[in-house]
Amino acid sequence: MNFSDLNLITPLLSAVEDSGYTEPTPIQVSTIPLVLSGRDVLGCAQTGTGKTAAFALPILQRLHQEPLNLQKDEKLPIRALILTPTRELALQIYESFETYGANIAITTAAVFGGVSQNPQVQKLKKGVDILVATPGRLNDLIGQGHISLKKLSIFVLDEADRMLDMGFIHDVRRVISHLPRKRQTLFFSATMPDEVEKLAMTILHEPETVKVDPPASTVESIRQLVYLVDKVNKKKLLPWVLNQPEVTSALVFTRTKHGADRVVRELSREGVKALAIHGDKSQGARQEALTRFKSGDIKVLIATDIAARGIDIAELSHVINYELPDESENYVHRIGRTGRAGLEGDAISFCCYDEFDALRAIEKLIGLDLPVVESPWPMEVFTSTKDPDAREHRADRPRSSSRGHSGRGRGSGSGDNRRRNADASAKGKNKPAKGENASAPTQKKPGSRNASSNQA
Ligand code: AMP
Repeated sequence: MNFSDLNLITPLLSAVEDSGYTEPTPIQVSTIPLVLSGRDVLGCAQTGTGKTAAFALPILQRLHQEPLNLQKDEKLPIRALILTPTRELALQIYESFETYGANIAITTAAVFGGVSQNPQVQKLKKGVDILVATPGRLNDLIGQGHISLKKLSIFVLDEADRMLDMGFIHDVRRVISHLPRKRQTLFFSATMPDEVEKLAMTILHEPETVKVDPPASTVESIRQLVYLVDKVNKKKLLPWVLNQPEVTSALVFTRTKHGADRVVRELSREGVKALAIHGDKSQGARQEALTRFKSGDIKVLIATDIAARGIDIAELSHVINYELPDESENYVHRIGRTGRAGLEGDAISFCCYDEFDALRAIEKLIGLDLPVVESPWPMEVFTSTKDPDAREHRADRPRSSSRGHSGRGRGSGSGDNRRRNADASAKGKNKPAKGENASAPTQKKPGSRNASSNQA
């Protein structure tokens, strides 16, 4: 299949060619004709598989071909709105519209918080066809009378499940209350929990559902592995992983903003330069950190989940989960920052005893048992750090005697099994659980290009 088979007009085909794309991805093949025909779409496809172009190209074409019938001196009305959860993603999607629309006279603007609204308002005053926005700033500007969405014809929710969850749903509902009832609505995400899909269906009108891959599945080009490691040893494990020659760039996720700053400090003590990106940083600092990371100026970026979704970083070699996410869906989005556009990538997760439940939930969501690999700091604390009796349960023996505990290597079983094995190991029993590979697993280097994966 070629882009020219999708009924796209020549200026868009040229822009696609200039972007270096030779053929459309599956989500583009399925979605572009539907959007061109005016249908509502619920689109699910894995991270990094070209969802942005799947909606941007047909939107640009529809707006380009739609007659405008403007009165004399009437300002260009906003005809398409794309809502996204983060400022960085808004900017990135805006840039994609600029790229794909380079050869047609369609104007795009982005509005998001954390920066002065004045330049955004100035641009809106001149009139724009397409607006990419985060919900908070958009509602502010609507409230101030700078934005009218009365003539809107296409509405897109990117990262739709995130936009419809508790954190955003009220803002999104407010935005929707300003939209014409008759419009085309498009929802996209790589993850779509059932209850969110039900909610989405109440907003969409007779949608066509496109699910290119099972929702929440991870792309095969991402090699995934887990290190079982005590919480206190994560700060030793991280620089060790980062110093492996395969790690050319790494996006490291922490659960909290404080955690992100702490990891930057800890790495600095080890001589590893890193910057952090999180919600307490100014937008200028966020943007600068991301730009320097994208350009290769810094090799390591420490992030909270604000960088988990959508952000496209060319040739990112490693995603590292210093802490597992609270919401399993975010694991899929985090690791999806690598292995994009058909490239390979590695996703390494650090899991301490307190995180076994999170690990099990992730494995259930993605339908895979993640391979566990031994590091120089194997787990020695087999009880919750929240447990006041933790010290009594501590395995008080040299590190070597804890080797072989928890089913390292390929197909090591579920988080449940690992916890059982870890407990057994703490008591000096190293027998693998039933159904588990009893042979000594080979130790893999972190980030090893041939690290085992049981995705098949
Ligand atoms: P997205 O999922 O929209 O963030 O896109 C992921 C990456 O794939 C981006 O770097 C896009 O530039 C790239 N991309 C999108 N469509 C194609 C295509 N048809 N062929 C090759 N790369 C693409």
